[in-house]
Amino acid sequence: MTARTILCLPILLTSLVISGCYQVPVTGRRALDLTSNVELAKVSTRAFDEIKSRHRRSTDRARVDQVQRVGERIARVVFWDMPNADWEFVLFDDARQINAFAMAGGKVGVFSGLFRIADTDDELASVIAHEIAHVTARHVHERLSQEMLAQAGGVIGGVGLMGAGAGSLTTSTLLGLYDSTATLQMLAYDRDKEKEADYIGLMYAARAGFDPEAAISVLEKLEAETGAQPRPPAFASTHPPTPDRIVQLRDAMPKALEVYRTARGRTSPAIAP
Ligand SMILES: [Zn+2]
Repeated sequence: MTARTILCLPILLTSLVISGCYQVPVTGRRALDLTSNVELAKVSTRAFDEIKSRHRRSTDRARVDQVQRVGERIARVVFWDMPNADWEFVLFDDARQINAFAMAGGKVGVFSGLFRIADTDDELASVIAHEIAHVTARHVHERLSQEMLAQAGGVIGGVGLMGAGAGSLTTSTLLGLYDSTATLQMLAYDRDKEKEADYIGLMYAARAGFDPEAAISVLEKLEAETGAQPRPPAFASTHPPTPDRIVQLRDAMPKALEVYRTARGRTSPAIAP
């Protein structure tokens, strides 16, 4: 490697990272995104089809309608963050899984076990809004981008990968990002990403007119459910402790309640702020 190449590397790397930057909605954080959003949405849709083929759908009409009703309200307030989404909300019949997930392109899955901790519309909204927040914050894009840079073995390779976008991404690679060890379709995000999704999700739920306080009751019930059981290692290592998440939610609650009251005032003039 010549001296000139060495000098050029940081410059190229900087320009690559700047051009592949994304501003996270609500928090405004600048994040790395070298992927193609269109490609990722396509691959996510195929991965979602695969998940649908592997899991039985719920036939509980009331619950299916609830997921649809709540999901559509959240989808409306995130329109500008995901303008090309082709929304789909699917309830899977698996009472053992206290879980939900969302994917690029607007694909949302809920497992019936989730109702153990999220029973009301407000509670369900807090979970769905959190999952959608992971998507609008492009947390998967960010992780893939970091892997692209790490695997590139140099800036030249990185440029090549960037040009290809997520074109080389397969459904199995994408599904591999999900934690399959505990049969959870849960992405093992790091703690900061979880907290970011908590904050953004709280604001989305409030904007959609759902009581943001429900986010805390869901986490308290999650703690009660999981506290007694040994947690899967990935869950324990990547998710911030629930009390930490509750503290952050409480800090953000005055703002969320303001947003909630404004939203309620718009949709229902009879309710005073
Ligand atoms: Zn999460």
